[in-house]
This record gives sequence, C-alpha cells and structure tokens, in this order.
Amino acid sequence: LGRRINAALSDLNKTPLVDNAAIDALLKSVCSALLEADVNVRLVSQMRDSVKGSVKEQLNESGKAERLSEPQRRNVVQKAIFDHLVGLVDPGTELWAPKKGKQNVIMFVGLQGSGKTTSVTKLGSYYSKRGFKVGLVCADTFRAGAFDQLKQNASKAGIPFYGSYTETDPVTIAGAGVDSFKQGKFDVIIVDTSGRHRQETELFNEMVEIGQRVKPDQTIMVVDASIGQAAETQAKAFKEAADFGGIFVTKLDGHAKGGGAISAVAATKTPILFIGLGEHVGDLEVFRPQPFISKMLGMGDMTGLMEKVQEVQMANPDRQKEMLKKIEEGGTFSIRDWREQIGNIMKMGPLSKIAGMIPGLGQMMSGAGGDEEAGSKMKRMMFLTDSMTAQELDSDGSIFYSPVRPKKPPGAEKALEKPGESSANADGKKKSKEKVPVRMNARARRVAKGSGTSVREVEEFLMQYRMVRNLVKQMGGKQGWLKQMQGGG
Ligand code: GDP
Ligand code: MG
Repeated sequence: LGRRINAALSDLNKTPLVDNAAIDALLKSVCSALLEADVNVRLVSQMRDSVKGSVKEQLNESGKAERLSEPQRRNVVQKAIFDHLVGLVDPGTELWAPKKGKQNVIMFVGLQGSGKTTSVTKLGSYYSKRGFKVGLVCADTFRAGAFDQLKQNASKAGIPFYGSYTETDPVTIAGAGVDSFKQGKFDVIIVDTSGRHRQETELFNEMVEIGQRVKPDQTIMVVDASIGQAAETQAKAFKEAADFGGIFVTKLDGHAKGGGAISAVAATKTPILFIGLGEHVGDLEVFRPQPFISKMLGMGDMTGLMEKVQEVQMANPDRQKEMLKKIEEGGTFSIRDWREQIGNIMKMGPLSKIAGMIPGLGQMMSGAGGDEEAGSKMKRMMFLTDSMTAQELDSDGSIFYSPVRPKKPPGAEKALEKPGESSANADGKKKSKEKVPVRMNARARRVAKGSGTSVREVEEFLMQYRMVRNLVKQMGGKQGWLKQMQGGG
C-alpha cells in the first residue's frame, strides 16, 4: 500500500504543473491503492472528497494576491492526503499505559487464533523491558495445550507465569493467578483468556465473568489483520459484550488487507494500542497514527526507531541518559553518534523491519533481498566508520567536502550539494536557494579506500547520516518529539 501511494506522490513531484488534472490523477492512484488494501469504499470516497475540498479551498487563488508556487501547491496536496490518512486511523483519544506504583491488570480477549497468547507474551516482554515487574496468567482452559504454549513463550522471554493443568474453571484460575501476582507485588499482570472459534454467548459470558473476578484496569481485544474489513463488525460485537479500552491488531506483517483492518478498527473509535508484526516476542510496535502513516508512505518512523534503540540501550542506562541529554540540549549529533545507533540497530534485528523505520534506509535496502543483504549493507557502513579518524567521527560530516575551486581542472569530480542542504529534507520543505558547490575531498577518498568501499558509498553514508541528524534535531528541545514521547509515557 505504502509503495503504491509513495509512487503516486513521487509522480506528482515530477509533474511540473500541479493543476487540477495532476491532483485528480494523484487522488485516483491513492484511492485505488487504498481499495486494493481492502479499505472500505465509503472511507475511500470520504477521503477523496475531503482531500479535494481542502485542496480546492487552499489553492483557490481568487482573492489571493499571488498564485502559490508549484512546490507550495505540491505541499498542500501532499499534506492534505497525509492528514486525512492520519485522521482515518486516529480516534483522537488518549492512549492507555500502565501506571507506575500501581498493580495494573490487563485482560486479553478475542477469537481463537487471533494471536492472543502470542501478543500477551509480546506485551509482557515490552513492559518488562521498561522496568515493570510482569506476570502472565493463563485462563484458557478451553484449548488443549494452551497453558503449555503460554508457559513456553513466557519462559523463553523470562517472564513469570501462572496456570494449571488440572483446574478447569477459567474464572477460578484467572482469580487465583491475579491474586498470587498481586501478593508478589507485580506491577503488570496480564490475563490470557480462551477464544472460541465464533463469537458465541458462552465465550462472552466467560469473558464477563473473568472480568468481574479480576477487575482489569484495561481490556485489550486482539484482532487478526488478515480478516480485513470484517474487523469492524467483530470489534463491535465484542465491544457490546464486554467493553474494552484498546485493540491489538496482529499479523500486520505481509498481509495485503492490513490497511482494511486498521481503518475498520479505527472506525469503531476504539484506540489501537499495539500492532503485531511477526511471530517473535519482539515483533510488536506501539501504534501511533502519524508515524504509522509516515512509515507507510516511506517517510520514516523515528519514534518507533528510538523506542527500539532505547530498548537496546536499557542495558547501558548511563550512556542512554548522556545521549538523550545531548539531543535535548540541541548538541550536534555526530557521525560517532550515528555509528553507535547503527551498532544498536544491528543488535535489534530483524533488519528489514528496522530499516523501514529509518527515512531513506528503507528505500536503500528495498533492493536488497533479505535480512542478510540488509545486514551486510549495515556492516559496510560500520567498516566505513572504522576507517574514520577521531576528528572525523566527532564531526558533522562537512569535513569530507571541499568547495569546488573556481577554475576547475577538466575531469574534476562532479559538484555536489552542500551537506545539510541536500535532498535530506524528508518532508519536502523548501530548500535553501543558495548552494555552494562542494565535492568529496581527499578524506572521503581515504575512507573509501581504507574501508574497501567507494566514494559513492561514503557519500551515500553521509547523506543517510544527514537525514538522521535532521530528524534528531527535530526531536530535541522543549517542543521536540523526545519531550512529547516522554510526556506520553
Ligand atoms: P490465540 O488463539 O488467540 O491465543 O492465538 P495464538 O497466540 O496462539 O496465535 C495463533 C497463530 O498466529 C500462531 O501461529 C502465532 O504464531 C501467530 N501470530 C500471532 N501474532 C502474529 C503476528 O503478529 N504475525 C504473524 N505472522 N503471526 C502471528
Ligand atoms: Mg491462546
């Protein structure tokens, strides 16, 4: 879906004239991409009308002194589409998070096979990595082997669990498990329940009874993304039977119908809290509408990336604090800092998923086949920094460029844009008009040679670094994302 819309948006970038015909053509491609992703027809036609209306209003030149420039007109159209897509998945309610110093009980509900047990462990591990003492309770007595499955997942993730092979009443087990973890002073207690094949009264009654016994602070419904638009009716039915505060959408990895499920669930006005992106315990992401849509459109997701990086850095909290402080104070994010981040990314794997979160890196690696190739690309980036001197590592990269001398000898290297004013401008904002022609200098050639790469690769690396540095800059300061993220828990 993202690739299709992204392609349509870059087609618009190539159009010299942003006229009605160009806008109509763009909207047509975006709509057909959305329909193909199983987004409801009604939602798609709403999006077309709303974007058209808002663009028309903003581009209406009558009454305005000057006609907007083509790049400005392009921005208006792209922003209208982006905002509408965000609006489509953003219920606008505050997201729930467990409170520190409180015993938070979370109950999972959903149909059998939707991914409850898997997601319970994912969430447990997620909170555990963030300093909560987590316990898992298996209250699924319906499915044979349910306790063994939870036990296995939990042990692998190193999380305490509770369950029984002999007790057959789910309410009794749920109650006993929660009580025991409460006595043990656990901060987050997650209850896994059974799911029948269909939405049946018995299941709903059981859900309600367990809820009455364990009094959850949050009930999370698990929805399988591969059911597409049907997610809406399913979520509604569950909501009628047992009110829940949040949704966990699973199996968003490689499902063409993902867009349908996400938008359908969003239509029920219940916030999507998390999304599942694979079978492994680390394959979960906090769902945030804006980064989700930017990532979908290939614009990168720095929030998600920072979260993953933070997880890895929890092992070294002092270094983490140092880095955050530096970013907050608006210090230069040096090549050395970027190198450290790449090192962290390499520890996080699977790389293909992580790469999608970094602006530009996703595209760079989309040509690369699997994780292996993406990994070797990352390794080359590390080799490259290995060949840099301390001074170069601590720099902002401009050290690798020299101004092009006025009298250029024939056969000189191609002039490049001045670093920092390059196409690194991910959001397509206007670029500075004044460009000092520069070119890669002897340092860059030395690094290429020393690392067995090419000057082209050094330049690519520096472009990548500049993009990330620009984003990091946006994160810092009082209004930065970092402050917002910390405020949002
Ligand atoms: P439950 O019956 O609701 O507890 O569902 P399970 O947790 O047992 O999951 C059913 C199947 O879906 C298992 O094979 C899981 O590995 C798989 N699964 C769960 N979440 C995801 C996900 O996000 N992506 C993928 N690809 N598979 C998932
Ligand atoms: Mg289960």
